[in-house]
Amino acid sequence: MAGPAKAKERIEQLKARINYHNYRYYVLDNPEVSDVEYDSLMRELKQLEEQYPRLLTPDSPTQRVGAAPVEAFGVVEHRFPLLSLGNVFSRDELLAWHTRTVKLLAREQFELVAEHKIDGLAVALTYVNGRLASGATRGDGFRGENITQNLRTVRSIPLSVIGEAPPRFEVRGEVFLPKAGFLKLNQEREAEGLPLFANPRNAAAGSVRQLDPRITARRQLDIYVYALGYAEGKAVPETHWETMLYLKSLGFKVNPNNALLVSIDQAEEYYRTWVERRESLSYEADGIVVKVNSLALQAQLGNIGHEPRWAIAYKFPATQATTRLREVRISVGRTGTLNPYAVLEPVAVGGVTIKQAALHNEDDIRRKDIREGDRVLVQRAGEVIPEVVGPTPESKESPDRGKEFNLLEKLKEISKEKWRKNQPLCPQCGTEVFRPEGEVMYYCTNAACPAQVLARLELFTSRGAMDIRGIGESMAATLLREGLVRDAADLYYLKDKKEQLLGLERMAEKSVNNILNAIEKSKDRPLARIIYALGIRHIGEQMALLLAEHFSSIDKLADASKEELTAIPGVGDKITESVVVFFRQTENRNFIRKLREAGVRLEVEGGKPAELPLAGQEFVVTGRLEKLSRQQAEDRIKALGGSAKDNVTRNTAYLVVGADPGSKLTRAQELGIRQLTEAEFLHLIGE
Ligand code: NAD
Repeated sequence: MAGPAKAKERIEQLKARINYHNYRYYVLDNPEVSDVEYDSLMRELKQLEEQYPRLLTPDSPTQRVGAAPVEAFGVVEHRFPLLSLGNVFSRDELLAWHTRTVKLLAREQFELVAEHKIDGLAVALTYVNGRLASGATRGDGFRGENITQNLRTVRSIPLSVIGEAPPRFEVRGEVFLPKAGFLKLNQEREAEGLPLFANPRNAAAGSVRQLDPRITARRQLDIYVYALGYAEGKAVPETHWETMLYLKSLGFKVNPNNALLVSIDQAEEYYRTWVERRESLSYEADGIVVKVNSLALQAQLGNIGHEPRWAIAYKFPATQATTRLREVRISVGRTGTLNPYAVLEPVAVGGVTIKQAALHNEDDIRRKDIREGDRVLVQRAGEVIPEVVGPTPESKESPDRGKEFNLLEKLKEISKEKWRKNQPLCPQCGTEVFRPEGEVMYYCTNAACPAQVLARLELFTSRGAMDIRGIGESMAATLLREGLVRDAADLYYLKDKKEQLLGLERMAEKSVNNILNAIEKSKDRPLARIIYALGIRHIGEQMALLLAEHFSSIDKLADASKEELTAIPGVGDKITESVVVFFRQTENRNFIRKLREAGVRLEVEGGKPAELPLAGQEFVVTGRLEKLSRQQAEDRIKALGGSAKDNVTRNTAYLVVGADPGSKLTRAQELGIRQLTEAEFLHLIGE
């Protein structure tokens, strides 16, 4: 970069871009660029600021962590700032950090602690008189968001500590979504047509930064604590390691994989062990953190900017790699969605060779400007299907790139001979496709499309649905090909076709019996599983659970009106529409009839819905509440099975009375209806 004027211009440009990406990452939990791209912008800015120190300003993103808190949550001032961590990427850099530390401390020997660097988000939990008083995000390091209510729903965060603790103290830790929960959440979001979370960190952050704690409660969040921020009124241990043991004794969750070490060589060994075993962890870790054990030495080392000198993150090799995108192909999903996917030049990513990767949808491909022939960045996170992050910057600038991706053009290419009157056709069955208004996906409209039938059968037999072992992808395809089943309900009639089953390749008496037994056993699955197994558009496992909580049978769900459905908190217009449309179709009603005739249970066990705590009780809210808005109070009532009404009648069970109540209070007094203060109401609903 030539000259300070040019440098200044570039610095401003970089700051603006980084601030924008910080906002997307930390506030919206929805990053637009990969970490690799973000890190390269940050590196460039750091280098320029080092070269031209006069141009370094305190508001530079290199001087702060994260982003300012979102006011809607309420702001918590941190007594001591929450910091970030310096990074190293090689053994030499790790040794250089250690050598620097040795010099600063003027001593050769000191203990270290090594921990996993968990991919979640940092929180600060304050306990007063042994009870959780507040929980906050890191925010910009100085001021975080008050997410106490949400953190209360995380089971592994103690609401009160065991034994005698300092009267006031702050614990810091990482809240995270285990791999399985992350995978499930994204599958769920995909089914509901919502944007996917880019990584477990954004998913965890998106989960605790919810204005409605019930959403947080449904996600399977966990925590490992990694520091005592401060403690008042009681002596606490003098080393990090003992602090962890102490926190454990108070009831906090401490990662059992932490290790106390005596040398930097041991830290290197710890790193090597976990690079190999990281896949086996139930959570995503992107490296290890090495910390100086003595708290006195930590204090002596202090911080530089927003990074402590006494700790360093040694990052694992990226689970990203670049390769060539050979072509985009299109598969057909169970609801008829046309799903574009990438066929790649095989490449090793984190020890596994990948040849295909997800591309999500046309809008996403265009937004990321991914084109056939590009060199692309692909990433694998845990067991999640690999995905294409985007083209490399060089590829983007290359003059002879392929055309911008266009799904209809692609379909035309695939099914040229079938292309009539300029009408795009399904690549599998040649039926017309369409894109509903406001949706990102195109759909094949033919419910009998073989690709859809197969995908539906696979969903029906899958683990989270009817869980029929022995019928995976290839068996399902065989049964359809041989004409033994035409849809999933036919599985229950296979017992009459045992001879034909025995005639199939690699099928012996025992395996046939196993499959038939598994089919029989599946007749008794809980209602939520059947709802999910039906493959209704936008209904994932969680949504199926929610619907099963409100309707005691498939018939009740099938007969539900739009109003009934939308009254359920968490059920929006899209879900309602999808349920109503599904049950309106004769072929779907016939499918359900076939299941019933085969003896599949289509209602909750015992025929009654699980009793919700406020079931059958009418509530009326009057006046201004302090902790909740009127809408929030009503949503909570409905979620617990009660109903919220506008007027007090003889049927009203409770009147919740806020400040400046209206005539409803007088009416309730006349009728002798029980009144609740806001505090009593909160107590009743268990908050
Ligand atoms: P960081 O994630 O590299 O490290 C600091 C954090 O590590 C701490 O705040 C803490 O939450 C966490 N941590 C996990 N385990 C820990 C342990 N055992 N002990 C101590 N801390 C532990 O730094 P950061 O400032 O939080 O975030 C920077 C990262 O975010 C970079 O990787 C960057 O690429 C990414 N980022 C990406 C974008 C984007 O648009 N893609 C935008 C902003 C940031």
